[in-house]
Amino acid sequence: MLAIHADSWFDGAAFHHHPVTVVIDAGQISAMHDGRVTVPHAETLHVGFLSPGLVESHAHLFLDGHVYDTAMRSAYMEAGREVFLATGRKNLERLRASGITLVRDCGDKWGINHALRAEAAGTTLPVVRSAGVAIRRKGRYGSFMAEEVTDAVTAGAAVRTRGDSDDLKIVLTGIIDFAAAAVKGGPQFDLTELNAITAAARELGKPTVAHCSGREGIDLAVQAGVGSIEHGFFLDAPLLDRMAASGTAWTPTWIPVSWVRDNPASCGVGPDGVAGLGRILDQHRANLLEAHRRGTVILAGSDAGSLGVRHGDGLHDDLAAYADAGIPIAAVLAAATSAPRRAWGLPGGRIARGEPADLAAFAASPMTGLSHLRRAVATVVAGRLWRADLSASLAVA
Ligand SMILES: [Zn+2]
Repeated sequence: MLAIHADSWFDGAAFHHHPVTVVIDAGQISAMHDGRVTVPHAETLHVGFLSPGLVESHAHLFLDGHVYDTAMRSAYMEAGREVFLATGRKNLERLRASGITLVRDCGDKWGINHALRAEAAGTTLPVVRSAGVAIRRKGRYGSFMAEEVTDAVTAGAAVRTRGDSDDLKIVLTGIIDFAAAAVKGGPQFDLTELNAITAAARELGKPTVAHCSGREGIDLAVQAGVGSIEHGFFLDAPLLDRMAASGTAWTPTWIPVSWVRDNPASCGVGPDGVAGLGRILDQHRANLLEAHRRGTVILAGSDAGSLGVRHGDGLHDDLAAYADAGIPIAAVLAAATSAPRRAWGLPGGRIARGEPADLAAFAASPMTGLSHLRRAVATVVAGRLWRADLSASLAVA
């Protein structure tokens, strides 16, 4: 049995500015007491702040965000399975040290995400939610993460082989032309094809996740009932309203784009690109606040593994950007705790009696600085305690 004394806490929706004792037994929160209560026979931990375990809603575990340079990135892509697995293991340790207990891997074509999911199960590492291999249009963007399909029939058939994926990942649009401040090319699938994909995923009972930016692609995704829009650059108010009405979630992945703006030379981006990136990010920032005001579901995700986006720090950089856009801290933290678990139909994301013991503890409250969440002092996954002070893994954090 474990008893956590916290000076203040967040229950998944609201902050509580008084001490609490959370008792954990058999993987569940078995009791909660106001104040610091001594629980006989329990290991006791004193922490400054307690939250449901944080969730990184968009990551690629096999990729190392410390690789800053596009030439180095190209060489890394040839490194092979054992190197990718070793990178993924380190990334999971970084995520844990950052208070993350659940990570959604949004695709890799080698299936490293599935292998890491199996390795992490039953340990104190974060639970891995794995999309496995994504689906893209033949010849279009997404070669590092997706299988190629050519039409509604081959797309539907590919989906039906994804029984072991937690989510079905669709690469729906291309990458962004920074100088033009626009998405390159039209959507990879038309509405008939996309409907075939989402229908096949529904038959399998899998949520759909679409890499998607630009109004044309996002409009298609909402029409086809895609579960979450990843990146979502160039959103507008009417689309945010429709997403709020249909329950379509949005994972904003702010930091990979702002990293390119701040490090243009690493990516060969010139002055026109930097100016375009400024316009893209201004619009994205405004859309974040509009999404919050409209009740659009926001899932905090950083696309960790992208150039310059380190696992763990990436999520915290994204959270800082959401707060900077004007979203209240409680809503920012909900986007990284309760909202994703609710969107994926998972239990937890709340601190209450009877809930799964899936927690992150920190030295101090984010109400006195969001940066206090960057380093966890402890995490609990399905009742399994990890303590930073007893762990050698801080060396990689
Ligand atoms: Zn991604």
